[in-house]
Amino acid sequence: MPVRTWPTVTLPAIPGRGPALTIHDTASGTLVPVTGRDGVATMYVCGITPYDATHLGHAATYVTFDLVGRALRDSGLTVRYVENVTDIDDPLLERAARDGVAWRDLAETEIALFREDMTALGVLPPDELVGVVESIDLIASAVRELVTAGVTYGLTGDDADGADLYLDLAAADSFGTVSRWTREQMDLVIRERGGDPDRPGKRDPFDPLLWRAARDGEPSWTPEGLPPGRPGWHIECTAIAADRLGLPVDIQGGGSDLVFPHHEMSAAQSDAVDATYAAAYLHQEMVGLDGEKMSKSRGNLVLVSALRRDGVDPMAIRLLLLAHRYDSPWDYTDAALAAATARLERWRAALSVNEAPPAEPVIAAIRAAMSDNLDTPAALEVVDGWADHALAGEPGDASAPGVLARALDALLGVRL
Ligand code: ZN
Repeated sequence: MPVRTWPTVTLPAIPGRGPALTIHDTASGTLVPVTGRDGVATMYVCGITPYDATHLGHAATYVTFDLVGRALRDSGLTVRYVENVTDIDDPLLERAARDGVAWRDLAETEIALFREDMTALGVLPPDELVGVVESIDLIASAVRELVTAGVTYGLTGDDADGADLYLDLAAADSFGTVSRWTREQMDLVIRERGGDPDRPGKRDPFDPLLWRAARDGEPSWTPEGLPPGRPGWHIECTAIAADRLGLPVDIQGGGSDLVFPHHEMSAAQSDAVDATYAAAYLHQEMVGLDGEKMSKSRGNLVLVSALRRDGVDPMAIRLLLLAHRYDSPWDYTDAALAAATARLERWRAALSVNEAPPAEPVIAAIRAAMSDNLDTPAALEVVDGWADHALAGEPGDASAPGVLARALDALLGVRL
């Protein structure tokens, strides 16, 4: 059954238009404007592997791309946004086996919770949330295209029913240009991020797995022209992005732990058949706890659903995320959450006054901050300044609180 996205979010209309959005592109290391083509910008964001609940690191990623979508729309572009769900992969199978549940049931439960979290945080849904299981034929066709191009090779494993197919990275001249990492840097992380550089017979240790031949006890599919098996991780995104949005996409997004190997390989697989994968790569930096990256393997997660259960207002969670720049790593603290909650209450009080200083200059300043590489802390400070004046009882305009409330909803996704 296809994966469903969450309910759409209606953006209030606000007067005027924002400037073009500039973002930090990982591949060039520079700030680049997102201009789109013919009035349309395309964005592909790597979604969850549904084996555990949404933590603040995930929330930061999807809120960041939500803000990208809002800024692009505000600048007058139409946004076409696709996100995938890796609903078949080793970590999902391992977790399902550990917990004694069916992998499909585990995926379905976690996708449902993810949808709830995204809805609570007011995240704009993608136009399509695309599962891998529903896309097997599409992905298999991308694998066959690489086979036909003569840029793959097979390796037979003792326990496999057929050969595992790999991309020969020698066919991808651009390999390394997304992360701009040295091979030594790549070697340090590839094992913990799904790679198998030590497998005997590989031409290049970093060659990515395209198609994993069936093993006993593992789910498999038999698409035309391939042995029974299932897709490798990276090829799913190359295939889905090309099919749904066309290449190059304007923005390929995700968490910074996807820079290498995932986005590097997504681009290499595309380059091997002479297609450019993405015009720009945008990455949300990691959110940590007590100085360590928040991750399932470390078990140091702050879950969005747990905060919600504890009665934290989802808009306070959003303000906590917006208080930190997307391109700098940060650590969660209870004090930062308390500060975000206090800010939310203060904004609510300010928006309830009968008259306040005009909203237009505030809206212009928010637009300027957001279009400048999503400077969310600066945008929040602008609103704080306005709230100070409003709460001090400065005379002004009776319509200002209402106009600003709509702008905060449209531009920052903060509903008050
Ligand atoms: Zn991806």
